[in-house]
Amino acid sequence: MSDVLLSVSGLTRRFDVSKPYLNRLLEREEKQFLTATADVNFEIRRGETFALVGESGSGKSTIAKMIVGLLEPSAGEIRFDGARMDFASGAAMRQLRRRFQMIFQDPFASLNPRWRVGDIIAEPIRTFGLLQGQEITNEVGRLLELVGLSRHDIEKFPHEFSGGQRQRIAIARALSSKPEFIVCDEPTSALDVSVQAQILNLMRDLQDEFGLTYLLISHDLSVVRHMSNRIGVLYLGRLVEVADAKRLFVEPQHPYTRMLLDAVPDLALSGRRRTPVTGEIPNPINPPSGCAFHPRCQHVMPRCRSDIPQATATATGEAACHLLVPEKQGV
Ligand code: SF4
Repeated sequence: MSDVLLSVSGLTRRFDVSKPYLNRLLEREEKQFLTATADVNFEIRRGETFALVGESGSGKSTIAKMIVGLLEPSAGEIRFDGARMDFASGAAMRQLRRRFQMIFQDPFASLNPRWRVGDIIAEPIRTFGLLQGQEITNEVGRLLELVGLSRHDIEKFPHEFSGGQRQRIAIARALSSKPEFIVCDEPTSALDVSVQAQILNLMRDLQDEFGLTYLLISHDLSVVRHMSNRIGVLYLGRLVEVADAKRLFVEPQHPYTRMLLDAVPDLALSGRRRTPVTGEIPNPINPPSGCAFHPRCQHVMPRCRSDIPQATATATGEAACHLLVPEKQGV
């Protein structure tokens, strides 16, 4: 059995953002596309937490939605346990769907306010026909206790709980189909700081107990540092660095990773001088040529403006930057 549970290759998603009204007004036929992710490649190993980080608009959530089937890729492939997810249909897709779940950012929006907690958690069990009758009730009670709630909460509605408790319900629901893989999209960013650590610790305990594999999407580097084994850094829809989590914070290889880490005052820098944050993320409808980071990079070279850097092996993982490849090999 391969130790890779999920792999994505060449994952690309474009959105048509043409303005038909403006086109009609100006009597033109202009198509505009926003490339949310371009040629993204990574693997997630069984039992690990792989995090995707990047500024807002970097493509993190688009990747998460493509992986769980909420968005179709424009190009590229996603494999779960070796099987192409985009080719799966019928019973095969149903079986795959049971094995992965998603936890969303806002637990209030992700839980149906008109359903009782028992029905919310039982829905995947019923959908996949895992248990029947009283067994379902027993299992929902067990899951509620597993996430730190009471089995007597089964009859309540989501609005009767705090934000942290609602996220516990969402976690219980995600666990109810006995998944191996959970996509966690900013799971604590809508919660008070005081309960964030409790939810993160719960997620880690559940991972240890059930051997879960997580894809963690977060803009919060302290959450990512606390939770992850490996980290992928996204910039304008492209993966610019993938590295072991501990080493990424000490030896970032890509200039953008350095800038991202240096923007967080609380992170220790191991004696390194902070890189000042310069510029803003460019318009993704009209991204810069070559390396998309070049207008903000302190190390920009002529070829950065024309050639898109390819991922290269580094001491800590891999990174896509011309600095890492001598010019004669890089062109
Ligand atoms: Fe900077 Fe060039 Fe590396 Fe891009 S490829 S991060 S512009 S040095």
